[in-house]
Amino acid sequence: MPDMDISIIGTGYVGLVSGVCLAEKGHRVICVDMDPVKIEQINRGIPPIYERGLETLLRKNIGKNLRAQADLTEAVCATQLSIIAVGTPFDGDNIDLSYIKAAAAEIGTVLRNKNGYHVIVVKSTVVPGTTDEVVRAVVEEASGKRAGSAFGLGMNPEFLREGDAVEDFMNPDRIVMGGIDERSIDCLAELYRPFTDVDKIRTSCKTAEMIKYTANSLLATMISFSNEIGNLCTALGDIDVVEVMRGVHLDKRLSPILSDGQRITPVFTTYLEAGCGFGGSCFPKDVKALIAHGRHVGQPMSLLDAAIRVNRSQPDQILNILRENFASLKGLRVAILGLAFKPNTDDMRESPAIPVIQGLQAEGADIRAFDPVARHEAQKLFGDAQISYHDTLASVVDDVDAVVLLTRWEEFSRVPEMIAGKKIQPLVVDGRRMLEKNTVQRYAGIGYREKAA
Ligand code: NAD
Repeated sequence: MPDMDISIIGTGYVGLVSGVCLAEKGHRVICVDMDPVKIEQINRGIPPIYERGLETLLRKNIGKNLRAQADLTEAVCATQLSIIAVGTPFDGDNIDLSYIKAAAAEIGTVLRNKNGYHVIVVKSTVVPGTTDEVVRAVVEEASGKRAGSAFGLGMNPEFLREGDAVEDFMNPDRIVMGGIDERSIDCLAELYRPFTDVDKIRTSCKTAEMIKYTANSLLATMISFSNEIGNLCTALGDIDVVEVMRGVHLDKRLSPILSDGQRITPVFTTYLEAGCGFGGSCFPKDVKALIAHGRHVGQPMSLLDAAIRVNRSQPDQILNILRENFASLKGLRVAILGLAFKPNTDDMRESPAIPVIQGLQAEGADIRAFDPVARHEAQKLFGDAQISYHDTLASVVDDVDAVVLLTRWEEFSRVPEMIAGKKIQPLVVDGRRMLEKNTVQRYAGIGYREKAA
């Protein structure tokens, strides 16, 4: 039975999911955060974020081998391994390491008076070199001790996808364990001993950091590639990017055919589909941070630069479709379907819904919105003044000129039946290409435009 004592510094998406799942796997976990509201909620068994399956596991473990607190000193003293899972925002020019440095300094200060070997693991996404150079120096300075003897240092990137975070953490496709030495990596191996049947990579901190950025950059590039092809389909007219991509996916190298003749369609291909762009707390930030890091070391990242540029312009495609179909957007009654950057989460960070709504607001549209879980996040961002929020899909699509679908929530596949009987048919703008074109009377989508006869 594994029984490590671990502290997690930063109890956001990654910290909370990691803490709950590691407790479920049998470790004793203390989650630390500076936000007292989060702590209080977590200790009452209420997750501050929406994530499928999280509440059940939190309720099961809280008060037993899981607790949350603000006191970092006690948490570090009581445990043998501390995971840093604080935010690493991008400040427009650089990855902002201030939270990482602050957490590392606080842990280091505690280590000054703590006896025995302690391991610090960076789980936050940080540019290559951060753990070895920045974190190491900060902890050594604050603790007055040397990495590699008094304390170990590791880098363990997190690959969970918001919306599937618990499932991804409990059943990872790989575990990357970077460390400054074998002893640090051995501690990470012990932490992940309960995770069997999964590939585990032992490597340096720098390589671990690079793996995370490379994985996200690849997926973001695939999305922007598909969107650029989609935009060309729109410009050319009478070519549907969905059909084009279906044809591309059938390449055996993308969708292999097994010896029994059955074809496998990997999830990978879902990143080769056109839409209104990627968002969230990771892809935009991580790709921009890697570009900036490349620039600092004299290595331009022109492909990734382009991936970001394409993505930035993608919400405009939605606004352009509306402008082409209506004489003016002023007073146009628009139903926004989906506010979160993707389904099964309430996260609106860098959601394409934000620039689309801002564009509609600037042109005076009458905006109604519905998202199964992200309403409160949208209200924090936009307030209640210029958007009327609806509680159901049926009510938001009632009596509107246009229905704009921005998040691939399963429920939105019911739009055609919801609007079928309406006297005046709204234009359905499919930003995720999730509906069949012929299921609604007036359809427009990213990557498809009928050329006027
Ligand atoms: P988040 O903003 O949701 O959470 C960070 C938390 O850290 C906040 O609750 C904040 O109060 C707390 N915090 C900051 N400084 C602290 C300190 N000194 N002591 C205690 N608490 C402190 O961030 P997140 O989305 O969980 O991301 C964390 C890291 O993981 C980032 O580097 C991110 O890039 C990476 N990551 C995120 C995801 C994701 O899907 N969100 C996936 C993989 C990796």
